[in-house]
Amino acid sequence: MSLTTHDKDRIDDRPFREPGPGEMPARDLIPEHEDDFGPDGCSGAELFNGRTGLTYRDYLVLPGYIDFHPSEVVLDTYMTRNIRLQYPIVSSPMDTVTEDQMAIAMALLGGIGIIHYNNSVEEQTRLVEKVKRFKNGFISDPIVLSPDHRISDLHAIKQKYGFSGIPITEDGTRSSRLIGIVTNRDVDLESDLELRLRDVMTTDLITAPEGMELKEANRILKGSKKGKLPLINDKGQLVALICRSDLKKHSEFPAASKDSRKRLRVGGAVSTQLESRERVAELARVGVDVIVIDSAQGNSRYQMEMIRYLKKTHPEIDVIAGNVVTVDQARNLIRCGADALRIGMGPGSICITQDTMAVGRAQATAVYETARYAFRYGVPVMADGGISNIGDIANALAIGASTTMMGSMFAGTHEAPGEYFYENGVRLKRYRGMASLEAMEAGGKKRYFSEDQNIKVAQGVSGAVVDKGSMFNFVPYLMQGLRLSFQDMGYRSIVDLHRGLYEGSLRFERRTLSAQAQGSVHGLYSYKSPSMTAQ
Ligand code: GDP
Ligand code: 5GP
Repeated sequence: MSLTTHDKDRIDDRPFREPGPGEMPARDLIPEHEDDFGPDGCSGAELFNGRTGLTYRDYLVLPGYIDFHPSEVVLDTYMTRNIRLQYPIVSSPMDTVTEDQMAIAMALLGGIGIIHYNNSVEEQTRLVEKVKRFKNGFISDPIVLSPDHRISDLHAIKQKYGFSGIPITEDGTRSSRLIGIVTNRDVDLESDLELRLRDVMTTDLITAPEGMELKEANRILKGSKKGKLPLINDKGQLVALICRSDLKKHSEFPAASKDSRKRLRVGGAVSTQLESRERVAELARVGVDVIVIDSAQGNSRYQMEMIRYLKKTHPEIDVIAGNVVTVDQARNLIRCGADALRIGMGPGSICITQDTMAVGRAQATAVYETARYAFRYGVPVMADGGISNIGDIANALAIGASTTMMGSMFAGTHEAPGEYFYENGVRLKRYRGMASLEAMEAGGKKRYFSEDQNIKVAQGVSGAVVDKGSMFNFVPYLMQGLRLSFQDMGYRSIVDLHRGLYEGSLRFERRTLSAQAQGSVHGLYSYKSPSMTAQ
C-alpha cells in the first residue's frame, strides 16, 4: 500500500553504494531483494497466539501509510446486528454513569447510553422515556391536556418530561378535537397555578394536515415562527406534533444516534432474573432501542433463556448479551440469538472480580478471540471495561471490537449522575462498581447472582474520579483523537481496520515492560499531565 510498483522498481534497480572507507562491508550479509524485507511486526493472529493473556498495554499497532486527512476518517460502526452508530462509544449501565442526562448526551454526540437498572422498573422506564422524548421528527403520541386542567398540571409535565408546549384537546385525549395550545410563554408570568388552561391557552393555531411529509411540515413550522406545529386529520383531531427546537437539535447534532422516528436511541440494562420480563415490557412500551443483559458471567442457563425469551417476545429490540470472554461462552449466546456481545470479565477500573474469583481473562485477548469468532456470524462485539484513554479505544477497535463501553471515562462528566465534591482541592465525582457493597445495597446484586444471599462478596469497589467537564466537550475531543490514531495506523474506517486485522496487513508488536516505560513520560523531574478535555 505504501509503495507503488513503479516506486518499488526504482528501489530494486537502485545500485548498492560501495561502502566508504571505515564503513562495515556488510552488503553481502543483507538480503538482496525487496521482498526479503518486512512486513514488520506480527499479525493479530500471531500476536494472540493463545498462550498468554494480553491487555491493551501489552502491544502497539505499527504505523501505516498516510494519504488522507483525519477529517476523512469515518468512525461509524455497527453496535448490534441492526443498530449503527456514528461513533463507537457506549456509556456503561452503572448508577454513577448512565441516567437520562448521560444517555441524551451520548446519543446526541453519536454514541449511545445504556440506562442502569439499579432502580425500580418505574424509575428506569421514566429515564428511558425522557431520552426517547428528548428529540423527535413527528411526535405521534404527544402529551395533551384538556381546557379544564390547571397551570399546575402543566408544571408537573414540565417537571417530568422537560417540555411545556402542550396541545389542548376538547376532553384531554388525543381522540378529541384540538382546540388550543399552551406554551411556556402563556404561563411564565402567571403566579396563580390554579388557573385553568382554557383561560391562558392560545387558540389561533397554525396547523398542517395529516399525511404531510416531515420536510414540508418543517418548512411550514419555520415560516410560522411558532414553536410547535400540530398536524390534524379531517375531523380536527391531533395526529402529530412537530417542534421548532427539534429542527435546531437536528442541525446542531448531525451525528446523533436516531431511530426511524428521529428520536434519540437509548438502551436499557436488565438482569437475567424473572422480574426483568416485566422490566423489558415497560422499557419496550416507551421505545427502548436495545436491551443489555447485564451479567458478570454471561454463559448461564438464565441468560440463554432470557435471550430466547426476548427474541421471541420483542423481536424488534436488539439484545446485547454478555459478559463473555471466551469463544465457548460466545458460541452459546450467539446460538440463542444475541445481536451483539459485551466482552470483559474483570478489566474494569472498579473491578476486583479477577482477584476475588480467580476467574476472568486479560481484556485484549478476550476481545480478539471473541470478536474473531462473532465476526463469522455478523455479530459485533463491544469491548467493555479497562478503557482509560484514546489509545485504549483505538487498540480495542484494532483487535476486532466494533464498539467500546466505558464507565470511569465518563463518570466524572457533568452529565453523569451525582454531585461534585472536593477532596484535597480536587473536584471529584463518585464512581462505584455495580458489585461494590454500596451499589449492591441499592440493588446491584442482581448482576452478581447474590440477590437472595445474606453474605455479600463484593466484586467491585467504590471510589471517585476527577471532573472531566461536559460530555459535549469531552466526546468531540476523544473522537478527534481517535481520528488521528486511525490516520497514524493508515486506516480510514473501522471496516477497513477490521479487514486489515483479519487479512494480516494490520501489524502489531508486543511491548515489553521497558517498552511500556519508554512509551510513557519518563526522565522528567516534574511535568503536567494534559487534561483529557478539549482545550
Ligand atoms: P417546550 O417549548 O417547553 O415544549 O419545549 P421545546 O419545544 O423546547 O422542547 C420540546 C422537546 O420535547 C422537543 O425536542 C420534542 O421533540 C420533545 N417532546 C417529546 N414528546 C413531546 C410531547 O409530547 N410534547 C412536546 N411539546 N414535546 C415533546
Ligand atoms: P471501566 O470503564 O470503569 O474500566 O469499567 C466499566 C465496566 O466495569 C462496566 O461496564 C462493567 O462491565 C464493569 N463493572 C461495573 N461494576 C463492576 C463491579 O462492581 N465489578 C466488576 N467486576 N465489574 C464491574
